[in-house]
Amino acid sequence: MLKGKTALVTGSTSGIGLGIALSLARQGTNVILNGFGDAEGPKAEVAALGVRVGYHGADMSKPADIAAMVAYADAEFGGIDVLVNNAGIQHVAAVQDFPVEKWDAIIAINLSSAFHTTRLALPGMLKKGWGRIINIASAHGLVASAQKSAYVAAKHGLVGFTKSIALETATTAVTVNAICPGWVLTPLVQKQVDAIAEREKVDNDEAKRRLLAEKQPSLQFTTPDELGELAVFLCSDAAINVRGQAWAMDGGWTAV
Ligand code: NAD
Repeated sequence: MLKGKTALVTGSTSGIGLGIALSLARQGTNVILNGFGDAEGPKAEVAALGVRVGYHGADMSKPADIAAMVAYADAEFGGIDVLVNNAGIQHVAAVQDFPVEKWDAIIAINLSSAFHTTRLALPGMLKKGWGRIINIASAHGLVASAQKSAYVAAKHGLVGFTKSIALETATTAVTVNAICPGWVLTPLVQKQVDAIAEREKVDNDEAKRRLLAEKQPSLQFTTPDELGELAVFLCSDAAINVRGQAWAMDGGWTAV
């Protein structure tokens, strides 16, 4: 049922976003990629699955860029059927030391960007009579950790935003849900592994083990592929009554 539809996945030149883009493309969904860095490699990976692929370099902290990206999706792909709000950044510091510009950037990219994409893409979904919005929140959308005040605030905000829009669309064929990953070994998390390795004078493998042991009872990283398959399920007919949920895939992190 995803064949021929179009997905916009923000922050999909890397990590989880790219994993979700590839899973959707395997179902025959055309994909619009977004994000910084090399776009040609990710574009080629998606195109190899036989779907149409586009790319827009919108900076998700800039509402005007986001509007331009949605206009591009409308003009080139006939609109957005599946919107995956995934772009995100992290910064780790105690609140009294938290750089103001980092706070503003995290709130803009991890939270406000989802408001802008949603307000611009939802009317097209409602008009077509079908749509899926999937917000990539985090275990930190459900529980907190110290030193991550901006990220935790943004992700809790994204879960609240998800619930609100799910209620606004409850009688339509547009569903809105959040996915809450635990640790996934992407560049965003590798930086935190590197910080443990340096601080605790251990090698990369031991630093990964310590990172997992602190929060994730399964002691295994969640993978972008696993998250991609969950996104595909949320797009299925069987998931039509899954609305406003914050679905954890976190190795038991939030079960304790
Ligand atoms: P990543 O660093 O591998 O990828 C982030 C993507 O966002 C990249 O494509 C990057 O270019 C893009 N991006 C960053 N700032 C942007 C901006 N201003 N405009 C447009 N694109 C921008 O990170 P990831 O781990 O794959 O994270 C993806 C999402 O998953 C984030 O929202 C993150 O908070 C969330 N998440 C990650 C983990 C984890 O353990 N890695 C856990 C829970 C939630």
